[in-house]
Amino acid sequence: MTAEMLPAETVRDEAGQVLLYSWHDFVETICQGNCCFVCGASPREKKFNDEHIVPNWVLHRFDLHSKNLTLPNGNEHKYGTYTVPCCVECNTTMAETFETPMSRLFDAGAGAIQDFVAEKGPLIPFTWMALIFLKMHLKDGRMRRHLDRRKGDELISEDYVWEHMHHLHAVARAFTVKAEVEAKAFGSMFVFPIRGDGTTDAFDLATFTEAQTLYIRLGSTGIVAVFDDACAAIHGIYPLLEKLDGPLSWTQAREVAARMALANLDLENRPSFWTHISSDKEKVIIGGTTDTAPRFRKLNAELYGQTMAGVFRDLPPVDGYTPEQAMSALQAGSITFLFDDHGNFIHDHAPKPPVGVKA
Ligand SMILES: [Zn+2]
Repeated sequence: MTAEMLPAETVRDEAGQVLLYSWHDFVETICQGNCCFVCGASPREKKFNDEHIVPNWVLHRFDLHSKNLTLPNGNEHKYGTYTVPCCVECNTTMAETFETPMSRLFDAGAGAIQDFVAEKGPLIPFTWMALIFLKMHLKDGRMRRHLDRRKGDELISEDYVWEHMHHLHAVARAFTVKAEVEAKAFGSMFVFPIRGDGTTDAFDLATFTEAQTLYIRLGSTGIVAVFDDACAAIHGIYPLLEKLDGPLSWTQAREVAARMALANLDLENRPSFWTHISSDKEKVIIGGTTDTAPRFRKLNAELYGQTMAGVFRDLPPVDGYTPEQAMSALQAGSITFLFDDHGNFIHDHAPKPPVGVKA
């Protein structure tokens, strides 16, 4: 979905550090090799210690090490061993640059991440989200789709178009080459409060691969980020977000994530992204080019239904429906948890707790 103007050759600085990957080298080194996913060093060149995909401090705070997440092929994987290859140097820098501030913001309580973004901009939380989305997809490129080899050897990532993730990778590793990231190189990010409903400590996570969208819930804070829309998606659904004048239930939060993903899928005039490197290779700027105003396709109920079904494999009870009826109505795109029949935000929406994280 992403258009990018990229050189055929990888560009390195005087010390040999990669400033910009060619598509070919990005796919071969970062997506398909066993190199550090940040700097591209091979395990023969540097010391490695694998990086947790969901950061270790999150696993501690929500007691997730021995719990499972569901992979795109339906298999389960323990959070504690869900890792990707990373060199010690990049791992340490990422911990200092992103994990320490993010864990402090989380500890500061509800609203701290929103306040931080309003005051200091999206760079740290957005990059933190981009790194998690990237790591999850790189991991899919290292795991077979079928545990039973007789069913074939393809990888979970078989259908991914790695080139579409080049821009995401460039932004996620901008810190390592001290690149300046312009506003249009960022994507949409929405941070919002989530109601306890007896699940104040809950962790939740959902990805939309094609829509390059990630949703994470850390207790009473929800974050949705879209990585390749140059902030179009959030403008597209702003009239909807404006109506959310209170904390969201867990189903409402997932619906917001699905709607942001859908807005990105419906964006007609895609942005293009570029990286400028000064002739002395001292300055790297990552930017984006967009039309004056984003244009969106008309809402397609079926696509909305498919996107919702992606995040509601375990659907909570819906009033007036049997579980089967509720699922087919959801898939047909006729269920919303956010609004009542008059289009007003449902403040007292109180579904049963999520079952997404399994012990
Ligand atoms: Zn590295």
